[in-house]
Amino acid sequence: MNGAIESLKRPAPQPTFDVERIRADFPALHQEIRGKPLVYFDNGASTQKPKVVLDTVQRYYARDYSNVHRGAHTLSERATEAFEQARAKIARFIGAGDPDEIVFVRGTTEAINLVAQSYGRSQLREGDEVLISEMEHHANIVPWQMLRDQIGIVLKVAPVNDAGELTLDAFQAQLSERTRFVALTHVSNALGTIVPVQHFIDMAHDAGARVLIDGAQAAAHVNVDVKALDCDFYAFSGHKVFGPTGIGVLYGKADLLRAMPPYQGGGEMIREVTFAKTTYADIPHKFEAGTPHIVGAIGLGAAVEYVDGIGRDAIAEYEHDLLNYATPALQSIPGLRLIGTAEHKAALLSFVMDGIHAHDIGTIVDHEGVAVRAGHHCAMPIMTRYGVIATARASLAMYNTKQEVDLLVNALYKAKELFGR
Ligand code: PMP
Repeated sequence: MNGAIESLKRPAPQPTFDVERIRADFPALHQEIRGKPLVYFDNGASTQKPKVVLDTVQRYYARDYSNVHRGAHTLSERATEAFEQARAKIARFIGAGDPDEIVFVRGTTEAINLVAQSYGRSQLREGDEVLISEMEHHANIVPWQMLRDQIGIVLKVAPVNDAGELTLDAFQAQLSERTRFVALTHVSNALGTIVPVQHFIDMAHDAGARVLIDGAQAAAHVNVDVKALDCDFYAFSGHKVFGPTGIGVLYGKADLLRAMPPYQGGGEMIREVTFAKTTYADIPHKFEAGTPHIVGAIGLGAAVEYVDGIGRDAIAEYEHDLLNYATPALQSIPGLRLIGTAEHKAALLSFVMDGIHAHDIGTIVDHEGVAVRAGHHCAMPIMTRYGVIATARASLAMYNTKQEVDLLVNALYKAKELFGR
């Protein structure tokens, strides 16, 4: 485990943020779409992958691949060592004290389902309240509704204000002596709001509730320190932090994870099995039934190391500058309305345009090489709150530039021309 301890030390961030150097690391960015240079503004859905991740995945499949934790042979030892090293890198990435608090899952969705089904079903009772916000992704709504149907918890929703902010008062008003669990997004994928989760975690704890933070949109953009936040659970997805698809992370405090029953049964998660009785492995393996996404985890380890090498404070600062450039540029387009104008925002711009359906915006700007997402962004309730069915969403990442924002603005003017306004 020496390697794991070694990798708990944070690599020093690059002294200056060099976007061209970062762009050079991402092969997918250097291509043309319909004869135009690709402008990739769909990072909220999924990010592109740096060469170091592609090379790591290729190397492990080509040379070091085997199943983990089982074989008494060299390849299995190599794969196991790399898999557990990745766990340690991820623990460091989010400030967890112990790699055992990192459970590998498919993504944020599976992480939240795991908590709802394992923690929720074992620790919550009929009438207990679970509090979420109005701007949650379906992944942080539906698992709690399923739990409501199964055991009769009460699902409460804290509303957001017109800017898309969750205020302390609105949250406080929904807390009660029955609140046992709070599940909140760290950054809204539909509005871009950065939620000051620290305050809400403290308030929830004061009320005696446990807290899960959905970090799907946060992990690649803001510094995450689960120990400082003192959240009980934190979830994020590999594919949104420049890592592979199909791998994600659930962080849980060790004592909570230990007290929770397994989510799925099978190989890897047991200590001993007889037909009469099975005893379970310790955390985190208790929650990792079956063959895991071995190379996905190893690739994710490379991705978070890459991000840490740049430094999330530097990334947040750069992206904030991009947002400050993009916001007035988009707002200057007549008939364009931003959905989500929180004071603290990630570089994510959700918008509608008079007379043009969001999906048409997406199609037209794609003809100009610009990739944005159009739809309800798996957050239908917050769309309803704003009286829209869908928005177009440009979600920026550390490799995007102001020149690319200009290309989006030009493409949006083309959309206006086409629709005759
Ligand atoms: N929560 C938020 C805030 C998200 O943006 C997403 C992905 N759009 C998810 C949860 C679900 O993530 P995944 O599909 O990777 O499980």
